[in-house]
Amino acid sequence: MIRVCVDADRCVGHGRCYTLAPDVFDADEFGHSVVRVEEVGSELEAQAVAGEQNCPEQAITLFR
Ligand code: SF4
Repeated sequence: MIRVCVDADRCVGHGRCYTLAPDVFDADEFGHSVVRVEEVGSELEAQAVAGEQNCPEQAITLFR
């Protein structure tokens, strides 16, 4: 399992994470990221990694 965390202080709402990984991330009413699934299994790992690697603010951390 991988634990997914978004640092709300870093997130500025580019939306890349929830566009690339809609099963793991969602948007709040301001366009900032919300974690939908805090503990992802292998079926969502690729999405979680895509979100982490494509966040320009390094706001997403994955704990393995
Ligand atoms: S890609 Fe990064 S900055 Fe953009 S909404 Fe997602 S967490 Fe926030």
